[in-house]
Amino acid sequence: MSIAENVAALRTRMTEAALAAGRDPSEILLCAATKMNDAERVKEAVAAGVDCCGENRVQELAQKQPLGAYEGRPVHFIGHLQTNKVNKVVGKVDLIQSVDRLELLEAVDRTARRLGIRQDILFEVNIAAEAQKGGFTPEQALELAGEMERWPGVFLRGLMAIPPVPEKKGDNCKYFAKMRNLYIDIAGKKYDNVSMVCLSMGMSDDFEDAIAEGSTMIRVGTAIFGPRAYAL
Ligand SMILES: *Cc1c(COP(=O)(O)O)cnc(C)c1O
Repeated sequence: MSIAENVAALRTRMTEAALAAGRDPSEILLCAATKMNDAERVKEAVAAGVDCCGENRVQELAQKQPLGAYEGRPVHFIGHLQTNKVNKVVGKVDLIQSVDRLELLEAVDRTARRLGIRQDILFEVNIAAEAQKGGFTPEQALELAGEMERWPGVFLRGLMAIPPVPEKKGDNCKYFAKMRNLYIDIAGKKYDNVSMVCLSMGMSDDFEDAIAEGSTMIRVGTAIFGPRAYAL
């Protein structure tokens, strides 16, 4: 199957999942997780109509962006971001989805203010409390959202989560539901410097469950590009 055929098949499945959940399919965006795919393949995905691209690695972003890989679509950063590489990402992407710790939040804010811009971000939440994963606890995310006026260089746009790889369909529904509740909670507080417009959750193996539980953006790699040589 070509990338274009994969994207078309995904759109059909996204629409079906949205309708089954009584949701408007246009509420749910498709982010292509482009790690390990070169600029030409990313351009194919863009031409096939994905809504945005998500990069995991600073080096891949720096390689593909000058080649016009994302042209015509927003590009997001979705991977672990080291504090000393923040200046290679802030101002170069439309959204940093993976702000997963206070130190990074502060570094992104500082860099953005130095550049005279405001960087859109999401908080990554470690919703399954996995020891090996980064991310705020739900309590930390809620607390920091209420203090966002401390960081005028960033604008909190929503939440992101990477729950465990599911063993079977339905396994991650409980985590997705927790994320949705946290998202609604924060939105309802009407905090300064916060606008909850993006709930990024769901990947190739579980996006239908994520859509059923309220996701507004799924991040899909394998189901668009095929299997990767190794997992990041
Ligand atoms: C790779 C990746 C995805 C997509 O994973 P697939 O299972 O290949 O769809 C989504 N989000 C993040 C943060 C990723 O690193």
